[in-house]
Amino acid sequence: MPELPEVEVTRLSFAQRIAGARIAALHLGKPLRWPLGVDAQALCGQHVLAVRRRGKYLLLDLDDGLLLLHLGMSGSLNFAPSQPPAGPHDHMDLVTDRGTLRLHDPRRFGAVVWAPSEDSPQARKLLGHLGVEPLNGAFDALAFHAALRKRSAPIKQVLLAGDIVVGVGNIYASEALFLAGIRPTLPANKVSRPRAARLHAAIIDVLSRAVRQGGSSLRDFVSAEGKTGYFQLEAAVYGRAGQPCRVCSTPIRAIVQGQRTTFYCPRCQKN
Ligand SMILES: [Zn+2]
Repeated sequence: MPELPEVEVTRLSFAQRIAGARIAALHLGKPLRWPLGVDAQALCGQHVLAVRRRGKYLLLDLDDGLLLLHLGMSGSLNFAPSQPPAGPHDHMDLVTDRGTLRLHDPRRFGAVVWAPSEDSPQARKLLGHLGVEPLNGAFDALAFHAALRKRSAPIKQVLLAGDIVVGVGNIYASEALFLAGIRPTLPANKVSRPRAARLHAAIIDVLSRAVRQGGSSLRDFVSAEGKTGYFQLEAAVYGRAGQPCRVCSTPIRAIVQGQRTTFYCPRCQKN
């Protein structure tokens, strides 16, 4: 599943090239998660002013309103001067005078939704519950600690919920908790202020490293077929059950929390 770094790298892959482009047509294939919310004809002639990101949504600012794109479970976006004929899993072509932005989404959990503004009910329904952005300076260590103090659920699940800080998906939550030395099962309200500060720094570190890694390998990362792939950090704990911890050599443990697998080092990560 694309997580925040993949979505940010996707944004970086086409944001500059599409900015200022004039929309010639929007072709939609099979139904996605939600309807578009406007007649596709109404977008013709408008310009794509900028591409922003909020959580795992890409926001394409138009002359009138914005398009919200989500990659769902399996989606990828590719912007190219011309595209081959749409295949069975290509569900959106945004045709512009600079090229065509194509959504490829075999499982169709993705979304293409128009909203009149970011504050409109249509947009708020999708974006309203999102926590602060971890990578743009809005994410504050003290406010993070204060928010954690109100939650008694395990810290890993509080991070995954995304309503305090957005974009810390399963891989990155395991990795950040390892870096911060915090046991994933620890109730969030038991995380002390210094440890919350370490976790805050660890979240920024793992996410920005993943973006940098994806960004620096962008050319390889967009393969010959033009499909955007996924990348993974050299993981400290994620996916390494039974293997020795890179710090202390204790075997990494895997547990299930809220139907997601969590990986941690029982020695380096304390309650
Ligand atoms: Zn260890």
